Formats: sequence, C-alpha cells, structure tokens
Amino acid sequence: MEARHLKISDSEWEVLRVLWANPQSDSKTVCEILGESKEWQNSTIKTLLGRLVKKEALATTKKGNKFYYSPLVSEDEVIVSATETLFSHICAKKIGQTLAEMIEQAPLTADDYQLIQEVLSKKETVSTIKCNCIPGQCNCKEHQNKTI
Ligand SMILES: [Zn+2]
Repeated sequence: MEARHLKISDSEWEVLRVLWANPQSDSKTVCEILGESKEWQNSTIKTLLGRLVKKEALATTKKGNKFYYSPLVSEDEVIVSATETLFSHICAKKIGQTLAEMIEQAPLTADDYQLIQEVLSKKETVSTIKCNCIPGQCNCKEHQNKTI
C-alpha cells in the first residue's frame, strides 16, 4: 500500500504511535496506554483499531480469544504522507515561507541545526515557481492576469 494514499486521522495516528512503540499489542494494552491520558472509552479505541485494520495500516492476528495488532505502515511513511497532504493545501509559491516558519517554531538541537544547514547548503534553487492553485484560490499575479 502506498503511503501517500493513506488518510490517517489525528486519533488514528495516536493509536498507531502506540503500535509503532509496542508492536504485537492486544487492544487491552492499547487501551491501557491511551485510555487514561486521552480519556477515550475502550470502545472508541477498538473502533479506531478496526478502522486502521480496514485501511490496511494495521495487521491483526488472533491468538486464543485475543486479537493482536501490528503496524503495516512505518512512522516515516505516515509523516511523509501528512507533509504531502499539508503541502497540497498550500500554493507552491508559499512552500518556502511555510518551511521557514516551521523551522522558526521548532525546537532544534545543535545536531538538528547542523542537519538542516547541510540540507540547505546542498539545495539547488530555482529562478521561479509557478502557482499550482485553482484560479480563484489564491491572490498571486498569475491568476489576476488570467482573469483580466
Ligand atoms: Zn497559488
């Protein structure tokens, strides 16, 4: 299954995080880990587990009368997919500015800082970026010219 087609809700993501950290957990374990901090009912957590199985994000195996869950998608795949979704909502011309704001807000270690600096030093720039929005979705000049 390709990660970019995965639509993972915020609640489903919380469940997946438990299973990335504790693969082969049964629903009782997931409920114990999430139940108190999230104030979710066990039935809610079971519904989320069921949805993730249906989406092929989790595999389930039955041992005795218990179901055990394991992730079929990696944390990296879900993060990449969420980033692609975020960028798909933003005009291509605003991505650079958005990235700068993300860096500004993120807590970074010296190692993180160095990593970002390395990526930036190797990054090739382009002279122009074309707006990829539907006309009427953003205020860039390309659109204004079209409508005149
Ligand atoms: Zn645009």
